[in-house]
Amino acid sequence: MPYQITQADRTSFLRCRRQWDFGSAGRRNLEPARPPAAPDLGLAFREALDVYYFPGMWDWQPRVTRPLVYQGLDRSLARQRERCGAGGGDGAWQRELDAGRWLLDRYFDWSPAVDRFAPVQVQPEFEVDIIDPGPPPRGVVTAGGELIRYRGTVDMLAVDAHDAYWIVRHRLVTGDWPPVGALVGDEEAVTACWAWEQLYPGMTISGTIDNEFRAAAPPQPDTEAKVARPRRAGGLRRWLPGTREDQLQRQVRQHEPSGGGRSIPQHRRLYAAAQEPARPDRIEQEAAANFRRTWVRRSRAEVAEAGRRLAADAARMMDPGLITEPSPSDENCSACAFVAPCEEVSAGQEPDAALRSGYRQRPAQKTAEGRLGGGVWGLGRGAAPPRPRGGP
Ligand code: SF4
Repeated sequence: MPYQITQADRTSFLRCRRQWDFGSAGRRNLEPARPPAAPDLGLAFREALDVYYFPGMWDWQPRVTRPLVYQGLDRSLARQRERCGAGGGDGAWQRELDAGRWLLDRYFDWSPAVDRFAPVQVQPEFEVDIIDPGPPPRGVVTAGGELIRYRGTVDMLAVDAHDAYWIVRHRLVTGDWPPVGALVGDEEAVTACWAWEQLYPGMTISGTIDNEFRAAAPPQPDTEAKVARPRRAGGLRRWLPGTREDQLQRQVRQHEPSGGGRSIPQHRRLYAAAQEPARPDRIEQEAAANFRRTWVRRSRAEVAEAGRRLAADAARMMDPGLITEPSPSDENCSACAFVAPCEEVSAGQEPDAALRSGYRQRPAQKTAEGRLGGGVWGLGRGAAPPRPRGGP
């Protein structure tokens, strides 16, 4: 298997070299022996959205698809619970299920007016060579001369009404919405744009869409009003409320039976009709009480620079003189899974006993469970772009 780097490895490397040394697949490759026993609502909601945005059902009637989305949420929490054993207690799992279903109901009301795209793939994976752009361009290699690969998954690849591709990320937020600058500077998101363009030479990713959601205690007295009237955020784009039929009209559909041209495969329309707005905004945002959608348009230079930074980080990881010194701080250590062995090392002890008792080798990456819409390109709006002449 080639030497692979994920964004989690890279984040850990930049945060604390000792933490990276314990957990990275290319180093000790350890993980806590006992998985967390608490429900992960963020994961469950994301998996429900995978069903909601399944490209093959995008044009179907909501009354058909929504029961399947609820099932997606239920199944995700059931799987988590199975993995955790009886941890968390019945009440905790039921509370998360109720909160997730409540949030889905609100999402069904809110999203049709702001889904200005058609899904192309959900949870597609990528794995690409890490190339230092140079000059001259050259692959980043291990000490043994093997090319290093960057591997990851995006929540969704989507195409907008102008036939431009976007990478979509779903994210659970607790508390206040993060500042927009944090979304613009999201290294994982912009690196995914770079990686996707390496995977499909000739394809351009216009930017990233952050689809954020936050759970709230089920219904508060004034919540209905807030959900029903999304507010304009940042003065960036006008949202016009309307009937359900109006909202569906605005939705970017996969296929239209006649006249609209949507049934013409994507790659043929790209040459014939695709046109971006003349002066697109760099950032567009829509928000409601529980949801926020932020479109960040990425420049060519920004995407290229993300690839250059990835290559530099990968080369540093391969440096034979690298010292895996710790970087303790409240922020780093409070969420670290390796506090006990780290303390042993800091006390001048071998961490072997702590590692044996609380950690295990991370299992080899399994083939991801089959996801509907995760691996194939559609024939209509979601069709694959053409490979360039002489390309792979
Ligand atoms: S406990 Fe802190 S210093 Fe130690 S490995 Fe974890 S993040 Fe690094």
